[in-house]
Amino acid sequence: MKFDPNCIFCKIADKKIPASILYEDDDVIAFLDNNPVSYGHCLVISKEHFDSFLSTPKSVMHKVIDVAQRIGQVEMKSLGAKGINILTNCYEAAGQSVKHFHVHVIPRYNAPDGLKLEMNKYGDVNLPTLCDKITDALK
Ligand code: AMP
Ligand code: ZN
Repeated sequence: MKFDPNCIFCKIADKKIPASILYEDDDVIAFLDNNPVSYGHCLVISKEHFDSFLSTPKSVMHKVIDVAQRIGQVEMKSLGAKGINILTNCYEAAGQSVKHFHVHVIPRYNAPDGLKLEMNKYGDVNLPTLCDKITDALK
């Protein structure tokens, strides 16, 4: 199992530093974010060190996503959340600060909180050309 001694999430998975653990099994651990953007904001991580969602083996990634879904369902009921954002930042350009795969589960309440997600149109794009580029790479 890959372990990075300098990684804060590896240390949480290894119980070297404390966290408010919500769920744990052989491959996955979920704990409350210590700088929450909403009430119930938590992180679901692989116990093994992978640097992002994009580099995590599918079988492990699927297990993490399963737990994120379950916690989202439970937080809707138990915390009275009105919605949930499931978010995983991949690499610095996308806002990733801890380089160990993690999924944010962020309950929303139709009330002000610390998450600002805006999707504004980026510009004019030739969609057929772009579509070809990506579908070619998928082949
Ligand atoms: P990201 O910016 O997507 O890499 O998110 C990293 C998240 O990890 C942030 O929301 C931090 O608040 C959270 N975080 C960092 N260190 C800890 C820790 N020791 N315990 C709980 N959450 C942490
Ligand atoms: Zn790690």
